[in-house]
Amino acid sequence: MIDALAQWTLLPLGMALGWAFARKAFNNNAAGQPPPIDAGTPMPIDQSVRWIAEATGEGEGNLPELQLLLGNFFRKRGNVEHAIRLHEAVLAHPDDAARHADAARFELAVDYQQAGLLDRSEQYWMELVEGRSPFAPAALEELIALAEQGQDWPQAITWATQLASIKGQSQADRIAHYHCQRAEQALTRSEFDVAMKAAKQAQSHDNGSVRARWLQGQILLRQGDPSAAVTRYVSAAELDARFLEDLVPAIEECCARVDDPALRAQAFEDLNAMHPQAPVLIAAAAAQKRAVGEDPLPTLTRGLKLAPTRGLLKAFLAEIEPRPETESMGMRASAAAMHAALERLEQSAAGYRCEHCGFTPRNRFWQCPSCRQWGTIHRLPDQIG
Ligand SMILES: [Zn+2]
Repeated sequence: MIDALAQWTLLPLGMALGWAFARKAFNNNAAGQPPPIDAGTPMPIDQSVRWIAEATGEGEGNLPELQLLLGNFFRKRGNVEHAIRLHEAVLAHPDDAARHADAARFELAVDYQQAGLLDRSEQYWMELVEGRSPFAPAALEELIALAEQGQDWPQAITWATQLASIKGQSQADRIAHYHCQRAEQALTRSEFDVAMKAAKQAQSHDNGSVRARWLQGQILLRQGDPSAAVTRYVSAAELDARFLEDLVPAIEECCARVDDPALRAQAFEDLNAMHPQAPVLIAAAAAQKRAVGEDPLPTLTRGLKLAPTRGLLKAFLAEIEPRPETESMGMRASAAAMHAALERLEQSAAGYRCEHCGFTPRNRFWQCPSCRQWGTIHRLPDQIG
């Protein structure tokens, strides 16, 4: 029992006394004596807090501050019940509504969140927003996080719009992602018109959103219009070279379906104009040469000189491996071994990295599972060395 007392009562009491000493010299003549510690009955927390306030001469005026401090301490130690009792006492304090009530609401929201009572937590966050409290931006961030967890994207859009207005800071980037989430949900249900409308809303919020254009391409492809999809994919890839490795295969797939060499030629001309000498475009050019019966080796060799990447080296080895010259030089086995080693390296390497927190997932996430930021995960460069 002494252990329990030390853990739940004496420790916070000691901390609170430290707080009181820091604020004011301890007054030996202060009213009251320390309440007797009965090893069989832990001291009621409300009584303990009042005693500290009286004993240190802080009086009722500073009681809410002490209650907030101790409440947070109890919550950090996992005793949410005590935290809630203390924070509710602050709200009930008759004289301190203006000074401490919003802080108490904020803490109660965190308490209930920790207790898993999300409805009550949400209610306090909303009170802070409605009251235009100084805690409103932080409360809105929490409400946004709750909406994201529940995949309630229209609600997330509402909160983010309100946050933009309160902070005077654009939230267009994350709002565009919420519209993209709506578009993806609609696409899963094959509701193409709803999906396209949402993807276009995403683009209207953030015209630089690669994801919004990429999605429009996916929707058009699902609707059976690969030719229009190519245009959207190209316009997405033109915005940011980091997406080329994902978008080039999608463009190739669409062009193969349409079987229109002019469409492919125009698409790659546009991409090359925007991202000249991008390794993935050089690899695509080599593959195209091969497809039309031309030798792709000069293109691959030029690419390796310009920007050696695993992708280009793999394509180069795949090209030379079956050639008679390689066999005559006794290099076929070596080329095959190197090719296989590169493939194994690709399988074991982390494919993506969050630019915000450094998390390295194997797949792309639009929202980082680690730091919850939107649009921060990108492919790791394929560069050798
Ligand atoms: Zn992250």
